[in-house]
Amino acid sequence: MIQIHMIDGRNCPMPMCDVCGERIEDAGKAAVVFQNFTPNGSRLGVRFVHKGSIDGRTCHDKAEAEISTAGGKPGWEELKMFLANLAFNVGFPARDMAAHDNNRSRP
Ligand SMILES: [Zn+2]
Repeated sequence: MIQIHMIDGRNCPMPMCDVCGERIEDAGKAAVVFQNFTPNGSRLGVRFVHKGSIDGRTCHDKAEAEISTAGGKPGWEELKMFLANLAFNVGFPARDMAAHDNNRSRP
């Protein structure tokens, strides 16, 4: 899920792991898990998770197991690629993002 965290007077959007509930701080160590191989036109929710078994976490495995247990076939995408695809799909491709960076510091 995405939350807004108030930090030093700023509204900071943060991805949170849908399994352990902790903040996802590194896009390279995170993934989005979803039910895969569904019919054309399907609309499905996604689960933000800590990826693989990085840093001893099992969030990714747990999310996939939940989908399998429910009879689905899990799929996943690295969070970096998901965010790039998401931005592209709302008409805001990554190449246009630099103009909005504003040299902000990371909370
Ligand atoms: Zn997690």
